[in-house]
Amino acid sequence: MNAAPPPLTGSPPADERTLRTQLAACYRIFALLGWTELIYNHITVRVPGPERHFLINPFGLHFSEVTASNLVKIDLQGRTVDTSDWPVNPAGFTLHAAIHGGIDHAHCVMHTHTTAGCAVAGSQAGLSPDNFYAAQLHGRVAYHAFEGITVHAEEGPRVVQSIGHAQAVILRNHGLLSWGVSIPQAFAYLWTLQRACEIQVAGAALGPTVPVPEAIQRRCTAVRSTLRRRARYV
Ligand SMILES: [Zn+2]
Repeated sequence: MNAAPPPLTGSPPADERTLRTQLAACYRIFALLGWTELIYNHITVRVPGPERHFLINPFGLHFSEVTASNLVKIDLQGRTVDTSDWPVNPAGFTLHAAIHGGIDHAHCVMHTHTTAGCAVAGSQAGLSPDNFYAAQLHGRVAYHAFEGITVHAEEGPRVVQSIGHAQAVILRNHGLLSWGVSIPQAFAYLWTLQRACEIQVAGAALGPTVPVPEAIQRRCTAVRSTLRRRARYV
């Protein structure tokens, strides 16, 4: 199901200050949307430079409490680069570090445990293509098998291999994930995947769905890619 990717467009902002502001705003948007899990889950973004340092939320704060200045900058081993009063969640850093380190264009990585996302991640059939949003992700969704809570670095290469070129990812028995060259691009993928899961879960109570032919799915995905290339940010 993991087809050739569309061209990657957009570029991450050049300076850490802008990235901190964008990322903090993104955490607040997730909170507004209800995509939160107490003090858990993460959105991360790489800062400019060859070291692949990235910003992550302080462990212990709700998404609604994240600010540009309390984001913690860490390296791929989870070590704090600058001084910070906050620790980071080892489970969060491990998954995100694997993707930041293993996929060159993965400047931003988002991961959620929403109810709809977890429900689809745990269903044998996975994501159904039979709704407006899922049809825009034909061949763009990757799956990774559950190996337990992600605290072991040795799972990292397997996660990267599972993802391939797909920017929308379903972590089996776990949740949803997306990555992008920028925060807006990663958000656009996660939002589409989340909407697809919400509609699939709601529709499951209504009986069989109306199938979307594969040719129509391909067309929907192509249109989405075209729109993405025209968009200013994604
Ligand atoms: Zn998780």
